Amino acid sequence: NPCQSGPLRVAVLGAGEVGKSALTVRYLTKRFIGEYRSDTDMLYKCVLQVDGTPQPVEIMDTSASCDESSDAHLQWAEAFVVVYSVTDKESYRWAASTIEELTNRRSSACVLMLGNKSDLGHLREVEEVEARSLALTHAARFSEVSTAESCTPVAEVLDNFLKEVKSQRNG
Ligand code: GDP
Ligand code: MG
Repeated sequence: NPCQSGPLRVAVLGAGEVGKSALTVRYLTKRFIGEYRSDTDMLYKCVLQVDGTPQPVEIMDTSASCDESSDAHLQWAEAFVVVYSVTDKESYRWAASTIEELTNRRSSACVLMLGNKSDLGHLREVEEVEARSLALTHAARFSEVSTAESCTPVAEVLDNFLKEVKSQRNG
């Protein structure tokens, strides 16, 4: 499989406004910047330390307004970060059906489900225990994070996920 030695390809999926772009930029730059363009997919190509060695990684920050391309994303990536906002039940349903689809169509792919905006507890619409059990049902990893707050371990969660993706590829 020629893909084995190429870059790790990760697609960030989710409904609009859940924080996909904020999360991607925060992970790659260590910065939280408030606003992002939301009308296009963004492909980031970089080399990251994964499990202590340099690893080419491609991260596709997808745009919900490019709905036609979601099929292509499912084919393109070998790992998926499915994001919803804990303040938005509808975005959780979107994430749940995406994970369902991934289970059916890409059963061997690594999946990480992220409940973002955990800093907005007063606006919470999705319970952590419900989302965690859904992720577990589909053998997906799960974490709640706040991309906006520097104290939450966004980088650690994604570092660990990439480590797992890489070891699955090699093993
Ligand atoms: P996308 O459409 O999924 O790419 O979402 P964006 O990354 O553009 O973020 C949508 C909005 O949510 C922006 O105003 C962000 O500043 C905000 N946002 C993203 N992550 C967080 C978070 O963890 N907490 C809070 N309070 N706001 C966030
Ligand atoms: Mg975006």
